[in-house]
Amino acid sequence: MSPMFVPGPVDVAEDVLKAQTKAMMPHRSKDFEAIFRGAAEKLQKIFFTEQRVFIMTNSGSGAQEATIRNLANESVLSLACGSFSKRWYDVAVANGKQTVKLEVPMGQPNLPEAVEAAFQKQNFELITIVHNETSSGVRNPIKEIAELVHRISPETIIAVDAVSSLGGDKIPMDEWGLDVLFTSSQKTLALPPGLALCAVSERAMQKAATVKNRGWYFDFLLLEKHRVKDSTPMTPAMSLVYALDYQLDRILAEGIETRFARHAAMAERARSWAEAKGWSIVPPEGYRSQTLTVVRNPESFSCAEFNKFIAPRSMKLANGYGDLKDKSIRIAHMGEIHMDDLNKLLAALDEYTK
Ligand SMILES: *Cc1c(COP(=O)(O)O)cnc(C)c1O
Repeated sequence: MSPMFVPGPVDVAEDVLKAQTKAMMPHRSKDFEAIFRGAAEKLQKIFFTEQRVFIMTNSGSGAQEATIRNLANESVLSLACGSFSKRWYDVAVANGKQTVKLEVPMGQPNLPEAVEAAFQKQNFELITIVHNETSSGVRNPIKEIAELVHRISPETIIAVDAVSSLGGDKIPMDEWGLDVLFTSSQKTLALPPGLALCAVSERAMQKAATVKNRGWYFDFLLLEKHRVKDSTPMTPAMSLVYALDYQLDRILAEGIETRFARHAAMAERARSWAEAKGWSIVPPEGYRSQTLTVVRNPESFSCAEFNKFIAPRSMKLANGYGDLKDKSIRIAHMGEIHMDDLNKLLAALDEYTK
């Protein structure tokens, strides 16, 4: 397998790819429902939740849209700290919600103090937060923000996008009192793209029942009506569900805590490498991703040229994103990437820049 140090789509293990080739069957059949139910139960372990986890045939952005459609009649507070969190704001505006964007400069985290100040001006039905901002490598303090919101505005629904971290970093949904938590298949879960996995609390389901214009494809109430029968309203991407079920077994066999520790160790390694090299890490200490390390590179370094250098070794590194393009590199160490792979990349970077 070629190690791609990119934050999605990531490398998928050969046997996981093969799991997709299982023959089709009627999607409303006992056999498929058993696979669907098995996958949903395993997902609850990775989300640390007793709540339902919807298996949705759409990418992660669809879960952003679903959250907005289902959980706010009007007012949304959207925390922004980079490209993917800003996208969620755009989604809210595109769906006609009155949305306040609470933005910090790229590379900085969203902090509880600013959230508190926003709630002093007005109330919000829904707050959207990205856990792991894939454009800057920031890991937002979700636990602290959720604690604050529970204290100052207990009715507000808390929705978290963990698209590039869930499965590699621990986000205990129930313990932290989150209402929505979702990821995409093609990032830390190391599956092909095409599914979103989205956990929704009971409280959020009750809120959805009061929201108008939820649409059809993403309507949580409609999804729930079928989920209780281990099914979906529409035809799901069955091949991907086969692969999901298989990959979740692999993840649980590795051990979820072991998997978190593997990601944490790689994050440590990438950070200490950058520090030793004198390349500054974009997010401040305490707010750094466990699944991708974003580092400023010197002006003389070109990620495109470096990728030509490592191509014969079947490696690929991600350039910076948005405003940080060509100014930073994004060393994604998620999914199937192991310490040996990361060491090879860092050695190649040292060799290239010496
Ligand atoms: C990749 C990503 C998205 C978009 O996910 P898609 O599956 O491409 O729609 C949203 N949020 C974050 C944090 C991401 O990393």
